[in-house]
Amino acid sequence: MPENAPHHKMDIEQRLHKVIERVRAAELAYGREPGSVQILPVSKTRPVEDILSIVSLGLPGVGDAFAESYLQEAQAKIAQLGHLSLTWHFIGPIQSNKTAAIARLFQWVHSVDRLRVARRLSEQRPPELGPLNVCLQVNISNEVSKSGVGYLDLPELVQQVAELPGLRLRGLMAIPAAETDWHKQRAAFATLREAFEFTKATQNRLDEDWDTLSMGMSADLEAAIAEGATIVRIGSALFGPRMSQPGH
Ligand SMILES: *Cc1c(COP(=O)(O)O)cnc(C)c1O
Repeated sequence: MPENAPHHKMDIEQRLHKVIERVRAAELAYGREPGSVQILPVSKTRPVEDILSIVSLGLPGVGDAFAESYLQEAQAKIAQLGHLSLTWHFIGPIQSNKTAAIARLFQWVHSVDRLRVARRLSEQRPPELGPLNVCLQVNISNEVSKSGVGYLDLPELVQQVAELPGLRLRGLMAIPAAETDWHKQRAAFATLREAFEFTKATQNRLDEDWDTLSMGMSADLEAAIAEGATIVRIGSALFGPRMSQPGH
């Protein structure tokens, strides 16, 4: 519906300003440094026009990075937007046979949860692009998600991934079960923060690269920021209600 496009663009702009206000308010409320939380727009299932709506605003710190969950869909968008110097984050489940393309097209991968995938990403990362930034996805609510490394296996995976030359291990990511209760939201994020801090304290191979807690989405970004999120991944609060996912 092209006749709706200008309205849609204005909607995205208004929503973005709301999200920025929410993030700034949460930073202030929970003693976080202003501007220390990155808003990462999740553009999965959204057309390139929606991405351009954000890019064209030229706001500092938002609009130069986008996250995608499905490789095929992302490949098309990244190709179309190749003239812009955007940073792409992969946040979806990773099949082993997709690692070569992911390692070539993305600068960040948040969803590494097993050694086999990490090794392939490291080996397949084109050297001229420099190491691929990765977060390990942790499964903090076992019942809802099959993705993510369990807590007990996390220390070993950290140790192994930290050794891989093609990767730069940045921190942890999680997608907790959807919760409307503030305290339950915070409790889930607190668990990830504790794992992050424990890892930092106990793994002497990690240096200042270990700086990223990717947690919080549209419905729970305040709780995530209260617990130390450095990247919040925002889809529907920016682009409108989730659309169906064609082909997925
Ligand atoms: C879709 C998605 C998001 C964004 O979720 P919203 O609730 O729409 O903000 C964040 N993280 C991951 C991993 C996603 O797949």
